Amino acid sequence: MRKKFIAGNWKMNLNIKQSEELASAILKNLSDEIFLKCDVVLCPPFTSLFNVYNIIKESKIKLGAQNLFYKDDGAYTGEISASMLKFAGCDFVILGHSERRQYFYESDETVNLKVKKALEYNLQPIVCVGETIEQREAGVYENVVEEQVKNCLADISPEQLKNIIIAYEPVWAIGTGKTATPLQANDMHKKIREVITNLFSPESAEQIRILYGGSVNEKNSSDLLSQPDIDGGLIGGASLKPDSFTAIILSA
Ligand code: PEP
Repeated sequence: MRKKFIAGNWKMNLNIKQSEELASAILKNLSDEIFLKCDVVLCPPFTSLFNVYNIIKESKIKLGAQNLFYKDDGAYTGEISASMLKFAGCDFVILGHSERRQYFYESDETVNLKVKKALEYNLQPIVCVGETIEQREAGVYENVVEEQVKNCLADISPEQLKNIIIAYEPVWAIGTGKTATPLQANDMHKKIREVITNLFSPESAEQIRILYGGSVNEKNSSDLLSQPDIDGGLIGGASLKPDSFTAIILSA
């Protein structure tokens, strides 16, 4: 039985003070029993990581970053390493988010390098995949996502896979208010499990957690999260509102 998993991606929002306020409000809303059924991860911007860590460190809420660079250290102006994230209190890192692919030209190959570097530092990658609207309308969306999964997980061992989470996020559903129907999302999650079966094994496919992301809110979360192959959500906009985010966690 896969434990549910809800991560909040705050994107490039909130300064340190606002981040502290949001983390405190979420913390106040969650009782200990919730964590028996659901893992909760907050992914603030880099500048707020350590401050948010200090607020949640005694709780069961975990910290995640939104990106890292795949080198250990050195002359890479503007980049952040896996070791820096670990020292800031992170246990997770979002990799290959469609906004990074779209605006910062990230490829499956760089995501793969980042996945390996994250694992080396005991950070659990949340690897994002998903098709554009053009790819969905052209009927090639399954192949696109299959390729992304294969490329991003190249040279990963079955043992390493146990520490990886996949997020299926159709690009057309992110921040648009358009959500995949529960059936559309579940079908793609099933497809991803098939890909994992072929790449690794049926056991790996059964074990891996696959999140859905794309305009999830407190109104649609129950329907999405009750699908058999949807193990949780990567939440953008709604994760900035403590009550909406809490309601999504409760629905999981
Ligand atoms: C996301 O940032 O991964 C996301 C799914 O955003 P939103 O929930 O705002 O669509």
